Amino acid sequence: MYLKHLMLMLNMGLHAVFIRALSKHPLVLIVSFDGFRYNYFNKNVTPTLESLKLNGTYTMYMKNVFQTKTFPNHHSIATGVYPEVHGVLAPQVYDPKYKTILKYSYELWHYNEDILPIWIVNEKAGDGRHSGTMMWPGSDFKYQDTSPTFQMNFNVSVPWERRVDTALEWFLDPVTPANLVMLYVEEPDASAHVFGPESQQVLKQIAKVDSLTGYLRERLRAAGLLGLMNVFQVSDHGMDTVSLDRIINLTGLVDSSTYELDGVSPVLGLIPVPGAEDQIYAALKNASLREHFEVYRRAEVPERWHFARNRRAPPLLAVADEGYAFDDFFASRDRYIHHYNVSPSANVTFGMHGYDNSQLDMLPFFLAWGPAVRRGHTVPPFDTVDLFPLWAHLLGVACPPGNGSLEHVRGILAAGPPSLLAAYIITLVVAVAFAAVVVAFVLYRRNKQGFMVLSYRKMGDLADAGPEDMIEGQHLLSIAED
Ligand code: AMP
Ligand code: ZN
Ligand code: ZN
Repeated sequence: MYLKHLMLMLNMGLHAVFIRALSKHPLVLIVSFDGFRYNYFNKNVTPTLESLKLNGTYTMYMKNVFQTKTFPNHHSIATGVYPEVHGVLAPQVYDPKYKTILKYSYELWHYNEDILPIWIVNEKAGDGRHSGTMMWPGSDFKYQDTSPTFQMNFNVSVPWERRVDTALEWFLDPVTPANLVMLYVEEPDASAHVFGPESQQVLKQIAKVDSLTGYLRERLRAAGLLGLMNVFQVSDHGMDTVSLDRIINLTGLVDSSTYELDGVSPVLGLIPVPGAEDQIYAALKNASLREHFEVYRRAEVPERWHFARNRRAPPLLAVADEGYAFDDFFASRDRYIHHYNVSPSANVTFGMHGYDNSQLDMLPFFLAWGPAVRRGHTVPPFDTVDLFPLWAHLLGVACPPGNGSLEHVRGILAAGPPSLLAAYIITLVVAVAFAAVVVAFVLYRRNKQGFMVLSYRKMGDLADAGPEDMIEGQHLLSIAED
């Protein structure tokens, strides 16, 4: 075990000292496959990820946050706090401060200026730490006036392999090498929305993200980074199937002039006009007895969702049962049909997420591998907000108070994860010791050869020597024999 660590540290140090400029801090790469459900492994198209389970640490699923949507979950993974703390409650929220619905914007991601994503915490910690963000939701905005050193904004036309190549270039930057990169891939979520999670199209995308993982490993190997990089592969949520016979006609239940809607199915917020809340609530509550949804006043929202203690939480919240959606979904369906040229047959299925995070189909996967990660290990399921303290620990940065705990995930870490600084020192000590041995050997050989030549010459000279020479010769011989 110690020999293994020593060899690993030598590898790290040799790389850092002699081959390329690398960060002296542990290297962390976080990869998110959007909407990769925890049990997609059962589809048997993920040989690379399966082999990495054996190489690293795996958990059956992670417990994510409500709403089980992309933006709230990516931000909880990145900040270690629940949505009611970071304020990204949904893909779009009504914020009374701005008196408007916030879509993807600076304001959406800046509810609480004290909450910082891990890439900003790393960047601000200094001492040669540099972050890179590749399309990670919310990463195109500054936080506390700080940007990551490297950044690529959301652009699905950038091929996935190029995203990996660019991320590795950031780690190998000769001037400001990254020690943390967050990399986002929009599949298998995008295809599952359009074709449903059990479709052939999604199967193909799952196989594709598995191949991308293989590509990442190969590129790491080629760059000499395989033994140095700690890779965390995560997702934000799972996916369920919806069909057109499972659409709830919410807008038909209440007079649309009495409220404003925010959010997207399967969770809708209703912001009643003054005086209309009781009446809307009564109508929806009554309908929920026979239809497949629940309605909550803000004070009734389940505490376990960590959602409602926030001014952005709507006065009324309608949540569809799993497998159902509200009628705002028709607009999405039309977009899918138009964009993907899908034929709108009656039995077509779609994908949906956002439901209660206690529903199994909403849960995401987790897998980690690298020098700081235990090999062939499985840990009990943990919360996605636990990842922040884990990464802060690994990166050697102070961990601000949050909703997660390092203790829940400490089992992921290998005993005594090697640090690059220690690797530097060990490698330099070994290199200096090696150089000293070589120099000593060369000197020894040279001296020995000098004696041989001297002795030989002196011995030759003895053939025609006089008595004084004989005395000196015997003296030299006695030295040579010594
Ligand atoms: P959803 O399935 O509605 O929870 O959100 C997934 C969608 O979020 C993706 O398909 C993208 O359209 C969008 N998205 C993901 N990352 C970003 C980003 N960094 N910037 C803007 N939009 C994003
Ligand atoms: Zn997502
Ligand atoms: Zn989605």
